[in-house]
Amino acid sequence: MLPGTRETLGQISRQIKDESRLASCLVIFDLDSTLYDLALRVTAILHRFAKSPEKQALYPEECSRLLGVEIHRGDWGLHEPLSRLGLSKEQYPAFWDDVHKAWANGFFSNEFLTYDKPLPGAVRFVQDVLKFGADVLYLTGRDVARMGTGTEVSLKETGFPLDGVRARLTLKPQAGLDDAQFKADEIKRLAAEYGSIWLFENEPVNINAVLKAAPQVKMVFVDTCHSGLESVPPSIAQIPHFEVSIEDFES
Ligand SMILES: [Mg+2]
Repeated sequence: MLPGTRETLGQISRQIKDESRLASCLVIFDLDSTLYDLALRVTAILHRFAKSPEKQALYPEECSRLLGVEIHRGDWGLHEPLSRLGLSKEQYPAFWDDVHKAWANGFFSNEFLTYDKPLPGAVRFVQDVLKFGADVLYLTGRDVARMGTGTEVSLKETGFPLDGVRARLTLKPQAGLDDAQFKADEIKRLAAEYGSIWLFENEPVNINAVLKAAPQVKMVFVDTCHSGLESVPPSIAQIPHFEVSIEDFES
């Protein structure tokens, strides 16, 4: 049986605390669907589409249904939420393509990042990791040009530490870079600078790429949603969120 979230997070935080005492420790966090729940960002983008007079004229019935959309934390992309409304890509191809275009433009922009909510316990967990003595790095597939400004604002507004020294942010320098390759390259470089490195990440493709490039990195799979293209090795720790007080485990 898999250990519970409380037990898993307790073990991880004790290890990070011990490693921070012994040597330099870096804890890396992905942002989307790792530290942040994106449900409200996606909902806001879809509501804007559904309320647009231009789109309502083109797709009156579909827009009316889209206003009732519910995004679950486990939804990856639009297939699941739109299919729940009976608006599948197969049945409504023109509408679907139009919604998808609006989703992509909004999702990969600064504009809707203020809707993102931290996963339960995430802010406290990152704050405690810093207190233990580890450095923190937010390493994201978001790119500088489209999402850099909004990401900084969102991190600060939601209470995540970001001093640029012990808590830093690295975004993709160009949008076209492959997420997994970008993260693997960055982490491989950092592995030479730190005694130990941890990565919290929700996308198995990224986890597997980092494991290949830097097998010494300790992984935590945040099981929210993912592309479904790959799975993580069963030996990797898994958590659904961060909702446990780390102080409970302090000695
Ligand atoms: Mg992610």
